[in-house]
Amino acid sequence: MDRDLIRSMPKAELHRHLAGCITPEIALEMAERFGAPVPERDPVALARVMVLKQPLRSLQEVLSRFDLIARLFVSPEAVRYAACRAVEDAAADGISYLELRFSPGFTGYAHALPHEAVAEAVAEGTLEGMRRTGCQVPLIVIASREMGPELCLETFRLAARNRPRVVGVDLAGDEDNHPPERFREAFDLALSHGLAATVHAGEQAFPENVATAILQLGARRIGHGIRIVDRPDLVDLVRERGVALEISVTSNWIVGAVATPGEHPMRRLIRSGVPVSLNSDDPALFGISLSSELELCERIVPGLDLVAAQRLALDHAFGDPVEVGRARLGLYEWSTRA
Ligand SMILES: [Zn+2]
Repeated sequence: MDRDLIRSMPKAELHRHLAGCITPEIALEMAERFGAPVPERDPVALARVMVLKQPLRSLQEVLSRFDLIARLFVSPEAVRYAACRAVEDAAADGISYLELRFSPGFTGYAHALPHEAVAEAVAEGTLEGMRRTGCQVPLIVIASREMGPELCLETFRLAARNRPRVVGVDLAGDEDNHPPERFREAFDLALSHGLAATVHAGEQAFPENVATAILQLGARRIGHGIRIVDRPDLVDLVRERGVALEISVTSNWIVGAVATPGEHPMRRLIRSGVPVSLNSDDPALFGISLSSELELCERIVPGLDLVAAQRLALDHAFGDPVEVGRARLGLYEWSTRA
């Protein structure tokens, strides 16, 4: 499929971070409207400090960029604006169904914004974006492993209070020092409130964390999870349980989880019968779009059926079945015309 055709396809994305949607353009708009601090006023110079185009040489390269983004969230109004713009950019790329995830802790930390106010601002901003574009945007609340189990529990309580705009929870952050089983109580609480769970696990190492996320935390999807590729027992588990991997090729390459995009294990995972959804993760940070990412996936996996991949994503969506059904119908209508 050429890029224009991919762009015109009504697409679904399950794994995209709000913080990773802040393009240099949006950052400059936030500086203009809310006095948010930016290190450069020139869009090209700002892009140079915000966008990562090559594999990381150090963790600091990504931390400094996220620090810059956190400082842009100067007020709930700024968060609301960013959330609305994130939806507009997604819709402009032809996305009709987007599960957008955000961390109340990260979004609020630079300016001490209360987490409740952050959640409200993201809900309002995305709703405004939905009204303007027609894109459906259910939300996922992220807790970081580094916060520890207590704050994770508190964050998931906040997620439960913000249903039905929030449909799921996610655990992200440092896998080295924080095994997933420590967060079981928080996930039990989220699930008991009808929230669905996804967990960033097995991205660079620790494939066994994928099993723990599924068996102990009740994850229905896994963020990345690509390290299971060399563990037939875990491939079987994921396939048998129908757990979808949320895969992001460029993201995996930039952080060094794969040496080159061409060496991404996606093809082997798909061949093994693992459900794979295709995602951008942090499109603004990597200077990509879901469309450009799908084009890349098609190059890596010749014969990849992009329409089927979109249907698969919708089959594993956490959102309201009526909204998901509408997105499925839009994709079907497009595919019968294309
Ligand atoms: Zn992610």
